[in-house]
Amino acid sequence: MQYRTFGKLDWEPSALGFGAMRLPILDGDSSKIDEPLATRMIRTAIDAGVNYVDTAWPYHQQQSEPFVGRVLQDGYRDKVKLATKLPSWLIKEAADFDKHLNIQLERLQTDTIDFYLLHGLNKTAWPNLRDLGVLAWAEKAIASGRIQYLGFSFHDDLSVFKEIVDANDWTFCQIMYNYMDTHFQAGEEGLAYAANKGLAVVVMEPLRGGSLTRPAPQPVADLWAGASTQRSQADWALQWVWNNPKVSLLLSGMTEMQHVEENLVSASKSGVGLLSPDELDLVDRVSKAYRSLSPIPCTDCKYCMPCPSGVAIPRIFSLYNAVQMYGDDANAKRSYNLFMSPENRADQCVECGQCEEACPQQIKIIEWLKTCHSFLAESASS
Ligand code: SF4
Ligand code: SF4
Repeated sequence: MQYRTFGKLDWEPSALGFGAMRLPILDGDSSKIDEPLATRMIRTAIDAGVNYVDTAWPYHQQQSEPFVGRVLQDGYRDKVKLATKLPSWLIKEAADFDKHLNIQLERLQTDTIDFYLLHGLNKTAWPNLRDLGVLAWAEKAIASGRIQYLGFSFHDDLSVFKEIVDANDWTFCQIMYNYMDTHFQAGEEGLAYAANKGLAVVVMEPLRGGSLTRPAPQPVADLWAGASTQRSQADWALQWVWNNPKVSLLLSGMTEMQHVEENLVSASKSGVGLLSPDELDLVDRVSKAYRSLSPIPCTDCKYCMPCPSGVAIPRIFSLYNAVQMYGDDANAKRSYNLFMSPENRADQCVECGQCEEACPQQIKIIEWLKTCHSFLAESASS
């Protein structure tokens, strides 16, 4: 295992962290974790040097935290730093902070959470928590030893990210980052911004939810085939993240023992600067080849936003484009139907035309929104 730096802390995280959000399940039911297999997977990773385990309140329909608590018995708790997250969306009053932390400590069978994150901060969740006094509350939780360090995970635009980074002396943050999403959410600029301010940066979605390991479309497959060093698609994606010195560690949500074994091999040979300039150029060309498959030439400039009817135009185009790039229909439909609020979906468009006047790419936004909605609103299983 390779170890890295973690912001200002005198502690070295393993390059690979275990994310307990995509554990193996039974009967297709995410609340039924295949505990014998998942236990072997997590303990195999820890035995190989993984020292960071990440879970959260909602993972596996609230079964991940209690499961992780059980896995870390038999001496395993002492071998890792444990991260979990305050369920920001459930916090309605200040008393809810303690209420949820106490339940989490019990579920995890521990006296302390090493790394406690405010989960999924965005432009609405953050002001709510801030105004309810989350920072003062966290100081007390740290003083009492129930939390060791405070951080946040993030899903919103770069400007919101910077505002949150600047609002507190955070120890760490967790952002989505992979070679296809360098300008999405916090992105490359946010990563550098946080790291330069001394925050450790934990990377999630290094494989873009598995999209980057799906069978590659021909133009991408041709590029990988021409590489001087042959790697699996997963290894390329992981090494690209580890290559960046500003990344502290990456989390991988592993679903099979084979994922654990392969990721451990990747992590053991990982390092800053491992990829040669030619290899970085190849990854860049792969990224461009994926993008060339996008039917909608949206650059995510957001000049069309805000839509007066609330339509999340670039986000919807990104989901539709992802279907064409990665062939992962189910993921895109799930994001659209489960994670996008109905007020932001494409069928809210009243065809006022304002967005089309603003779009520098001259995209026929109204027509494309209809296409996107009729595809994405279908059942995720279809
Ligand atoms: S045309 Fe539709 S998507 Fe565009 S600004 Fe008007 S309501 Fe919003
Ligand atoms: S203005 Fe056009 S290119 Fe920019 S985000 Fe909107 S649709 Fe995409």
